[in-house]
Amino acid sequence: MKFNRRKTRQIQIGKVGIGSDFPISVQSMTTTKTKDVESTLSQIYELASNGADIVRVTCNEVDAATGLVEITQRSPVPIVADVHFQYKLALAAIDAGVNGLRLNPGNIRKEQQIKEVAKEALSANIPIRIGVNGGSLDKDLLEKYGDATPEALVESALKELKYLEDVGFFDIKISVKHSNVPLMIESYRLLAEKVDYPLHLGVTEAGPLPGGLIKSTAGIGTLLSEGIGDTIRYSLTTDPVEEAKSGRALLEYLGLRERNSLDLIACPSCGRAEVDVIKVAEEAQDALNNENIPLQVAVMGCVVNGPGEARSADLGIAAGKNKGHLFIKGEVVRVVNEKEMVDALLSEAKLIIEQGIDARLAAADKNAAEIARKDANDLINSQGDINNFLERKKSVVEISSNTDIEN
Ligand code: SF4
Repeated sequence: MKFNRRKTRQIQIGKVGIGSDFPISVQSMTTTKTKDVESTLSQIYELASNGADIVRVTCNEVDAATGLVEITQRSPVPIVADVHFQYKLALAAIDAGVNGLRLNPGNIRKEQQIKEVAKEALSANIPIRIGVNGGSLDKDLLEKYGDATPEALVESALKELKYLEDVGFFDIKISVKHSNVPLMIESYRLLAEKVDYPLHLGVTEAGPLPGGLIKSTAGIGTLLSEGIGDTIRYSLTTDPVEEAKSGRALLEYLGLRERNSLDLIACPSCGRAEVDVIKVAEEAQDALNNENIPLQVAVMGCVVNGPGEARSADLGIAAGKNKGHLFIKGEVVRVVNEKEMVDALLSEAKLIIEQGIDARLAAADKNAAEIARKDANDLINSQGDINNFLERKKSVVEISSNTDIEN
């Protein structure tokens, strides 16, 4: 299933294209002091290797702008300078060679200054993000609307947009972030009706985990499913590597980006489980993540429903009594000792990467399917089948009714 992307103009941030003709990109932001070039570059490399396509850094002082000269040259991904209050730092960042700018219309408000930055960005051929933020909205608009409403956020963006367009500047993307998820969603929907520029999505000040992750996923995921959004950022109060990983994972889970990391699915466990599903799932996740296995792998608590329910997974394991049924695309290929379940998953995952799914299905243990059927039947019989259950339910009802009469 595919979501219909909203058609937009295209812009280019360094080597990364943004807009409906390009894949949705993931952004994050460094937490280091930009003037500390080595620490900033080290964090940029870490973010890039965890899924960030573009990294934003603050340009909040002259030393930061100076640091950007080296950072932009050595960075593996395009760098966007984040500028607040001082338009001259935007000019300095352009001189330093950044691939894009983010301006906050709430705190760089003078028309002439904004136009001056736009003219310089035009000559340097770099785009600008109009980054409206519910928490730092233009005071005039706050007074006009009484609060940071979706209409206020969008009006702020459109006002800045006009300044840029007035000087012939159109390499623009826009964000209207809010910390309140429904307001954020409504703001972007409203903006998407009014402009055809690409949109940068995010829930601002989403906070620490797990709340920040849930809010960002709810806001960004809802809009992406409506086809709105061309680049995304999770704003989390934690190591920014989590932002990059989460952004990437969301796009993979929504089918908007090819899988390049592990997708571990697991049953939630229930009374039928034959192992500690939580423990096995965590161990499997760690082992497979350590090896960067880009497969969907299932951990299921019992052999009765496990392989069938997880048949879409590339690989999986279902627990039987002291055994594990290893399956590929729902077909049991091997039965292993319970203690070897995680090791078996890992070695089979590596073989699938090397040889492919079909070759591994062809190499299946021929007796495995029969053993699996027998184990599943044994488990059903030991736990009671549906006929026994109905009989027992009938007698329980009779007993309860009699008790009621006696009372
Ligand atoms: S796979 Fe088995 S143990 Fe897991 S939730 Fe389903 S029935 Fe329960």
